[in-house]
Amino acid sequence: MLAGRWPESLKSPALDLRGTSRKAAFCWHPAQVHVLKIAAMSKVLIIGAGGVGGVVTHKCAQVPKVFSEIVLASRTLSKCQAIAAQVKELQGREIEVDQVDADNVAETVALLRKHKPDLLLNVALPYQDLSLMDACLEAGVPYLDTANYEPPDEAKFEYKWQWAYQERFQKAGLMALLGSGFDPGVTNVFCALAQKDLFDTIKTIDILDCNAGSHGHPFATNFNPEINIREITQRGRFWEKGEWKETDPLSETMDFDFPEVGVYKGYLMYHEEMESLCKNIKGLERIRFWMTFSEAYLTHLRVLESVGMTSIKPVMHDGREIVPLKFLKSVLPDPSSLGQRYEGKTCIGCLVEGTKDGKPRKSFIYNVCDHAACYDEVRSQAISYTTGVPAMIGAMMMLTGAWKGAGVFNMEQLDPTPFLDALGNHGLPWKVLDY
Ligand code: NDP
Repeated sequence: MLAGRWPESLKSPALDLRGTSRKAAFCWHPAQVHVLKIAAMSKVLIIGAGGVGGVVTHKCAQVPKVFSEIVLASRTLSKCQAIAAQVKELQGREIEVDQVDADNVAETVALLRKHKPDLLLNVALPYQDLSLMDACLEAGVPYLDTANYEPPDEAKFEYKWQWAYQERFQKAGLMALLGSGFDPGVTNVFCALAQKDLFDTIKTIDILDCNAGSHGHPFATNFNPEINIREITQRGRFWEKGEWKETDPLSETMDFDFPEVGVYKGYLMYHEEMESLCKNIKGLERIRFWMTFSEAYLTHLRVLESVGMTSIKPVMHDGREIVPLKFLKSVLPDPSSLGQRYEGKTCIGCLVEGTKDGKPRKSFIYNVCDHAACYDEVRSQAISYTTGVPAMIGAMMMLTGAWKGAGVFNMEQLDPTPFLDALGNHGLPWKVLDY
């Protein structure tokens, strides 16, 4: 297991993180023991049997003290059955499977009433977020997802649709946890840690996402191709001094030396966690998001875009309407199949600048994840792994009561300490590098 790589010598109360050298410090707090002590036996219903759904199911199965019963439901039952067989083989646990169309609220409510889960963990697509939140409200079940809602016919993701559920979840006494993946997700929690423990004031945040791995295909996306390409081809956006500023798609770049991975060019993009972080990190002056891409990836993307293959506007083909991007998805490799040939590492983190104890401070809080190690553990590549692990940890926080509340929450609104303790212990150790 990846968690096995956590060095014994570092399992000690929090190290001093205030050094000014470029020395990395592992962070570890003994609270993880506490989390497991208060663990409750509970039943989780996972919806979505894709790349991320597979990882979440394996990771929940590894923690029977919290996830004593697991149900995996998706649109295609055979995909749930395939994951269940793999979980039996690798984790030695039986899980239940079921079929559901998560766009259909009544069908989902019936599924919730049938299985009576303590939590619905949504790793289907962002299009299903609102119908699943509606179903949770009707059946009285807490909710968690990893990506914010976007309407199928408009490539625009914003929290406004999900934040509009605040009062209904509060009144129902239920918790909805939004964006419990890596980015959004762990990146929000890193910022919460910066605000809580590492900094007195925070001036700027740059979220940096590097996949330095290679899957051996000429062109493939690491998570759902439709969602991924819609995101990347949007105009860039960042927040500065209270205003959103726009850039042409992938027009701004910044080179960054990613620890354990090397120097890569990051491209400025809009990313959903900035929308909540600019509200919840006090005194913040600027927040930007950067992602790296290989030249081959960008060349393929430019060609596909220029011939109209990334469009979401329907076109007529052989007498029937098709959406070019959906057609493209059907010919690209399934992200859940990429793991076997994947080599190299990801490095994702938050570069934060501000002050501590009256002195300037600049720190990179990050995780490095190895594609091949993820495949060995749960037959996945690192992108699905780094999303699925935090989804499981978020669920663990809710089910153990380490995180509780009524209403709709973004990750940085909750205590980062128990989450980060569990994250390190369940496969995603993280570090702080001071400059
Ligand atoms: P996949 O396309 O591999 O899997 C999605 C799954 O959802 C599929 O099994 C699909 O079913 C199922 N699904 C789609 N529509 C429905 C429906 N109406 N009812 C029931 N099931 C449905 O996607 P990924 O696993 O790559 O991504 C899952 C989620 O994770 C996405 O929302 C993505 O945006 C998010 N994500 C978040 C990240 C983060 O860091 N926060 C990073 C990466 C991904 P079928 O197999 O029948 O098509």
